[in-house]
Amino acid sequence: MGAPRLHFHLRHKLQSFLLDLDERFAGYLGPGEFCLYNMCNNHFFYNRRPFEKFLDCSNSEHLLIVTDPPFGCRTELISHTLRSLRRLHNRINQLPSTPLSIFWIYPYYSANHIKQEMPEMDMCDYRINYTNHLRYTNVGRQSRFCGSPVRMFTNVPLRLLRLPLEEGYKYCQDCDCYTAKENLHCSRCGTCPSVNGQTYRHCDHCDTCVKPNYVHCPSCRRCTQREGHTCSFYQSKQHCWLCGEKGHIESNCSKFRNSKLKRTKDKGCLICGKHNHRERRCNHRRKYFRELHFMGETSIQCL
Ligand SMILES: [Zn+2]
Ligand SMILES: [Zn+2]
Ligand SMILES: [Zn+2]
Ligand SMILES: [Zn+2]
Ligand SMILES: [Zn+2]
Ligand SMILES: [Zn+2]
Repeated sequence: MGAPRLHFHLRHKLQSFLLDLDERFAGYLGPGEFCLYNMCNNHFFYNRRPFEKFLDCSNSEHLLIVTDPPFGCRTELISHTLRSLRRLHNRINQLPSTPLSIFWIYPYYSANHIKQEMPEMDMCDYRINYTNHLRYTNVGRQSRFCGSPVRMFTNVPLRLLRLPLEEGYKYCQDCDCYTAKENLHCSRCGTCPSVNGQTYRHCDHCDTCVKPNYVHCPSCRRCTQREGHTCSFYQSKQHCWLCGEKGHIESNCSKFRNSKLKRTKDKGCLICGKHNHRERRCNHRRKYFRELHFMGETSIQCL
């Protein structure tokens, strides 16, 4: 879907089908391997029978969808299309539900949007470089200082994706997956925390790993960019570590009754008063909150 170069690379090696919004491909590719298509609304401009035939595959064949949408596209629309194609694939193959493998090329900063729509998608740390795009590459003067921000989101287990060691990736035993070499494993967080390839550092006050250039703001209780930081505006964008809601930080949480708050001058955990963790990792949370996990999302109830 919208990845013509990949199709031209694969078409003589594997079975491949191109769905793209550029009509010019019809001049090179027959109806058996191309359909004019809008992935924002899952619309086929030509007869879609050849594509349906392509989806019809035997058990031994593995089908995967690669999509490379324009980065301005709304993630809801792309997700909707991917779900429709998955349903179509399952119907044609008379399967109740199979996880049709998906690779979605998109910038890492859209990870939350993608996760919200499709919680089964994880981000692979491989940096995609576009040779025909100045901003999304690691080559040339205008390239971004930590390389391309473009990544691959997939429902394929990340441990199956072996990233090349010679291109600056490593295998992390604790996480059981490949990641950028500079992305150091944090034992406290139990993960290789970096999403942009920079080496993060663990902030003890936040009790989480943060970008290296971030500074800790004691009144916001979080690390953030130094430039243009306004506490009240910043706090209105945060999720509370106590009740999970957006719009305030823990010291202003009305759901968590004030009487329970330990008076620790905002240094330690507001639930128990200890200094070696923050509220998210407090062992006493269960006394005050019930957390429900469903489809990759957590909702928090105050008891
Ligand atoms: Zn790790
Ligand atoms: Zn950490
Ligand atoms: Zn911090
Ligand atoms: Zn602040
Ligand atoms: Zn709150
Ligand atoms: Zn605590």
